[in-house]
Amino acid sequence: MSKPKIGIFGLTSCAGDQLAILNCEDELLDIVGAVDIKSFIMAQSELKAVQDQMEDSRFDLALVEGAVVTDEDEKMLKKIRDNTKLLIAIGTCAAWGGIPASRNDLEREELYQIVYGRREDLFGCHKPRPLRDFVQVDFSLLGCPIEKEEILRAFSSLLHEDVPVLPTFPVCFECKLNENLCIFKEKDDLCHGSVTLAGCGARCPSHGVPCRGCRGPVDEANIPSVYHLMKEKGYPVADVERALRTFTYNAEIPQ
Ligand code: SF4
Ligand code: SF4
Repeated sequence: MSKPKIGIFGLTSCAGDQLAILNCEDELLDIVGAVDIKSFIMAQSELKAVQDQMEDSRFDLALVEGAVVTDEDEKMLKKIRDNTKLLIAIGTCAAWGGIPASRNDLEREELYQIVYGRREDLFGCHKPRPLRDFVQVDFSLLGCPIEKEEILRAFSSLLHEDVPVLPTFPVCFECKLNENLCIFKEKDDLCHGSVTLAGCGARCPSHGVPCRGCRGPVDEANIPSVYHLMKEKGYPVADVERALRTFTYNAEIPQ
């Protein structure tokens, strides 16, 4: 049986998810042996343009990191979609917009003015958006960055032609499995575990730090309810709004 052809791509991003794949050091040689990696700019010494690599290849699987921020990102994403059977969004930027799409109600022109002091379209960029706003995404691996164990499990399932089993429950569930005291309840700190997708092993609350929602919202997250609960506890409305919109640009905020 021929090995599945894989492409790993980055749009506008910090490249942390691609790095997380390279950080699978002990397993990397097994992965490389099991698949045919056709494009992975971050791991290549020969810098052939991504567009040219796509001309040569069709992929069974494309992993795409980053938000769509520029026209170039959009063009590249559509080209990847046309050239692959399965497209996986890797990281919260790709799946939800992430940090680049953090809600900022100012117009781009005004932001340019504030940051660069002049009105110019410096990078031809627009409001950052997740991949699914432009193309069909088959599934997402969440996290900022993605979790090593989740990547390895996903690779393993896909190599066996199975759909990866991903968590569907909130961080609070893993937090309770770790027998942590609830930061929100016991310390009155703004923790977003109840509306955030699990899969990180409740890393932050397990170290006494509130969850900031980096894996994006869990399915059917009751954001209005948690918002009102936080308001009841006396958090300023602006802090709650800012926190909920840090990783999820379209988090529903009731007035
Ligand atoms: S500390 Fe945070 S994640 Fe843990 S149970 Fe409380 S709200 Fe949920
Ligand atoms: S606890 Fe929350 S902020 Fe921390 S890694 Fe997990 S999802 Fe991200």
